[in-house]
Amino acid sequence: RLEIRNLKRRYDGRAVVDDVSLQIMPGQVTCLLGPSGCGKSTTLRMIAGVEMQDSGSIYVDGKLICDTNFRVPPERREIGLMFQDFALFPHLSVADNVGFGLKTMDKAARRARIEDLLERVDLKRFVDGYPHQLSGGEQQRVALARALAPRPRIMLMDEPFSGLDNRLRDEIRDHTLTVLKEEDTAVLLVTHEPDEAMRMADEIALMRDGKIVQQGAPYNVYTRPLDRASVSFFSDAN
Ligand code: ATP
Ligand code: MG
Repeated sequence: RLEIRNLKRRYDGRAVVDDVSLQIMPGQVTCLLGPSGCGKSTTLRMIAGVEMQDSGSIYVDGKLICDTNFRVPPERREIGLMFQDFALFPHLSVADNVGFGLKTMDKAARRARIEDLLERVDLKRFVDGYPHQLSGGEQQRVALARALAPRPRIMLMDEPFSGLDNRLRDEIRDHTLTVLKEEDTAVLLVTHEPDEAMRMADEIALMRDGKIVQQGAPYNVYTRPLDRASVSFFSDAN
């Protein structure tokens, strides 16, 4: 379970993330949806721990991981990351990419976890292959397996499907959802595409100018936008 309370971040005196609060339960996908520049990636980077908030706090399964006085380093937050530009390691085999976060595991258990994950993303035949031998969609599935390998409680995804063509994207979105639900991960997915949010989200948090302006089930947010700006965001995107 991920909980963020009153997160704020300013750049050059401008509030880029302005009092954002969210709660995401295990097995639930929340989409942070909004136009370019509204502060989505900045919010994610603070949760990941690669950027520090000016104020506010972050909890994983009820445990404080970051506020203005206290900070758990990124690698100990039990948070998985999947970003579009977060590529596989080209010099490592598929198995070693997936096993990257499992270095402390004993060899047999590590191999078993790697094979299980590759089976579930339908890529077991590539276990000893290398990233350059895979298509973009296949690489994306390996990246998902890699992010899930250490059993993170939370998964943060920033436009992870934007490099893929349309047909492939739908397929990968559905497949990704299935695997995430099986692992019972709490997911925060960032996108500027209403279609993607409608397809993947249990809940949509609509963001504008650093604030969450509306939050709810996809159908409700889509059919009952709160104001004119939200209406035009949804219609411009189509
Ligand atoms: P996109 O959909 O285009 O990825 P976004 O919602 O992810 O947009 P952010 O990357 O969070 O937007 O950026 C929010 C705002 O903060 C932007 O106006 C951006 O220019 C600004 N910003 C982000 N990082 C910095 C930085 N390191 N220094 C100054 N301004 C920044
Ligand atoms: Mg962004």
